[in-house]
Amino acid sequence: MKDYQQFLDRLTQVGNLRRLPDITQHGVYVHSQEGTMVNCSSNDYLGLAHDTTLRRDFLTWAMNQPLPLSSSSSRLLTGNSPYTEELEQLLQQSFGREAALVFNSGYHANTGILSALADKHTLIIADKLAHASIIDGLKLSNAAFRRYRHQDYIHLDNLLEKEASQYDQVIIATESIFSMDGDVTDLRQLIDLKKRYSNVLLYVDEAHAIGVRGPHGLGIAEEMNCIADIDLLVGTFGKALASMGAYVLCSKTLRDYLVNTARSLIFSTALPPFQTAWTSFVFRRLPEMQDRRNTLAAHSNILSQTLTGHGGELSTSHIIPWIVGTNEDCISVARQLRRRGFYCLPVRPPTVPQGTSRIRFSLTADIPQESLVSLAQLIQEEIHS
Ligand SMILES: *Cc1c(COP(=O)(O)O)cnc(C)c1O
Repeated sequence: MKDYQQFLDRLTQVGNLRRLPDITQHGVYVHSQEGTMVNCSSNDYLGLAHDTTLRRDFLTWAMNQPLPLSSSSSRLLTGNSPYTEELEQLLQQSFGREAALVFNSGYHANTGILSALADKHTLIIADKLAHASIIDGLKLSNAAFRRYRHQDYIHLDNLLEKEASQYDQVIIATESIFSMDGDVTDLRQLIDLKKRYSNVLLYVDEAHAIGVRGPHGLGIAEEMNCIADIDLLVGTFGKALASMGAYVLCSKTLRDYLVNTARSLIFSTALPPFQTAWTSFVFRRLPEMQDRRNTLAAHSNILSQTLTGHGGELSTSHIIPWIVGTNEDCISVARQLRRRGFYCLPVRPPTVPQGTSRIRFSLTADIPQESLVSLAQLIQEEIHS
């Protein structure tokens, strides 16, 4: 039998044992044994998860709706709901695409869709830094699999040139904003590339961009004006949308195909109507949230400028890694920032490459500007200490 305790002991020895943190959240603040801190590690990018007015408005409306807190089965049995269908219609119309399909989470979407689309005559080529759920999706499929160096489209082009003709279809999979580096993918370049082949599909995960970027908050694809050219456009509701679940926008044919084949959709109880109704409620308000998007962009600028020349050059978004270098330095700087009131977490190998241990700032629009200015000052002190 495998010695699980020994496994855990080894993790403890090298300082890599994961624990569920003992924290509570109050708005933009996190309370823990270390004290009260401004949350600089949340995915609640627009600050909606703790918006009491928004929640009250929804609950007032919801009181008079037949909104179950469970859907009691898969959507293919009795779990389908008009509220979920309405959300799909809202998505499909807002993005101007043929069809939308809702999943239980981004993890369900990426694992379910990729494993359903890809068979042994398929090649999936993913960005080296693609999210674990994308990697798990292709592991569940029988597809051949390559990775291109992060954001390196010449490398991708070479792979396509060499291999695309040997498969029935090729799927290029990427995120639009990367979770660890916070850099933005040039979607137009990927579209140009894929259009040179008749058998290449483009799969884009906008988990960190939906709500945050684009004139109506529809993501990087909207910002770059290329929604129509992405075969499978995926996003999640658990981050800026302050809800739970995920979506894919695609052709009607692909939607029908996924309803018939995506195992994470077929074999899992559907999201509660209460949840999908809340998602629609928030999604409908995205166009009005430009102020929050502007605030978030201004916050990001302050932090980026502070870190430029000091290991903060990668990001062009609200996710801003500060590359500190060694594990020990990174842990110590993160601890110092927490001690001074900012909830910041170190990210270490194997999540990121050796020697690039970093503090990952994940900014939200509800962080007060004064807090951000103090954080910038603190970082200056750390840099010059
Ligand atoms: C968070 C995230 C997911 C997973 O979405 P959940 O709804 O949290 O399961 C998928 N892809 C990316 C890029 C993410 O950042």
